[in-house]
Amino acid sequence: MRLSRYFLPVMKESPAEAQIVSHKLMLRAGLVRQQAAGIYAWLPLGTRVLHKIAQIVREEQDRAGAIELLMPTLQSADLWRESGRYDAYGPEMLRITDRHDREILYGPTNEEMITAIFRDAARSYRDLPRTLYHIQWKFRDEVRPRFGVMRGREFLMKDAYSFDLDEQGARHSYNRMFVAYLRTYARMGLRAIPMQADTGPIGGDLSHEFIVLAPTGESEVFYHKAWEQDRSLDVDADDAAALQAFVGGLTADYAATDEKRDEGREREAGEALRTSRGIEVGHIFYFGTKYSAAMGLKVQGPDGSDVVPQMGSYGIGVSRLMGAIIEASHDDKGIIWPEAVAPFKVGLINMRADDAACAAAADDLYQKLSDAGVEVLYDDRDERGGAKFATMDLIGLPWQIVIGPKGLANGVVELKRRATGEREELSAEAALAKVA
Ligand code: ATP
Ligand code: MG
Ligand code: MG
Ligand code: MG
Repeated sequence: MRLSRYFLPVMKESPAEAQIVSHKLMLRAGLVRQQAAGIYAWLPLGTRVLHKIAQIVREEQDRAGAIELLMPTLQSADLWRESGRYDAYGPEMLRITDRHDREILYGPTNEEMITAIFRDAARSYRDLPRTLYHIQWKFRDEVRPRFGVMRGREFLMKDAYSFDLDEQGARHSYNRMFVAYLRTYARMGLRAIPMQADTGPIGGDLSHEFIVLAPTGESEVFYHKAWEQDRSLDVDADDAAALQAFVGGLTADYAATDEKRDEGREREAGEALRTSRGIEVGHIFYFGTKYSAAMGLKVQGPDGSDVVPQMGSYGIGVSRLMGAIIEASHDDKGIIWPEAVAPFKVGLINMRADDAACAAAADDLYQKLSDAGVEVLYDDRDERGGAKFATMDLIGLPWQIVIGPKGLANGVVELKRRATGEREELSAEAALAKVA
């Protein structure tokens, strides 16, 4: 992509409304623009990142055996009356009336709809287990939308729903998602800690929030220092017993949000207890037959009698993750994208657009990078070098290649790694080989 033909409205100054660094940088780097409180337009650069994050989420869901579908954003109120949640949900639900005076709503989550879809199709125990998911916009009329996409009103969520024959099966489905979540965050360069979360009226221990530590996070969290290290995620998720032992081993190290603190376990952790603030980037939940029973979902079991499937639901805040990644990875010059989610891998800078030799060399390298399948943003604009460097640092692409007259005379370009600031001079071919 040539920057001279792209749409990248960057800002020099931090907008006054932004309080935290990720929000400031998302506005400055031209990723998003607010359209109404908590409602954002995703500009081209932000859209690319959002798609990359969603794609990693998708790949790990698929790897865990979940099956993708796509449900609508709008749902009928009657569907929610079946579960009793239409009245229970409260003012966070955006309720709409259509021209025929029918009540609809912008979905804040999809338990009811997926239960209805599954109910219409599933007949026997052979239709189980299944986990279905989609990546779709949600709306919650948050009292105080803030911190940009971190707490939006409209936001992108991956939500998955599992259906199992019995509790043991449901626990296996839950454990699969538990590990898939840790793998998902790790691929984005994030360490998310699974923390015991409230299970509501059903009780038990089967709900975890996944929290990324950050001083600007909205939750106060407590954890054993063992969570400050990367954990191995090497386990065969198809082996239910091995997976259970693995998840049990991980959760043996204490981690809880302030609502779920456990004095006994904190005393046990002693000197190793840490406290911080954190961002909730995911939440998984086993809720048994809450929706299947209320909505009349049943299948015929192996012995011919009716079975009410055991269900769980599993959410990831896809758009919130973008804020969390930036909170975890930036410096005073701008964003530092982990390669896996970077909007482009390479920023190619021509220092002197008015110099024919520089332009020819830069055009040539741009062509070669593109041919090699490298995602490259080529700053071919007629601007000062300093402004180009500042823009590249702000938008945080992992690699920068700079072509200028001095280097060109010596047959070299400059290659810079955004994360470390490390620079080296090398031939254009060598730079190409390095980033390809
Ligand atoms: P929070 O405690 O932050 O309000 P939640 O517990 O209400 O979140 P869940 O119902 O668990 O959210 O939804 C699953 C995931 O969706 C959350 O873990 C979070 O990552 C994301 N999410 C929830 N609300 C928002 C929001 N307003 N803006 C962006 N992402 C959100
Ligand atoms: Mg909430
Ligand atoms: Mg929460
Ligand atoms: Mg939650």
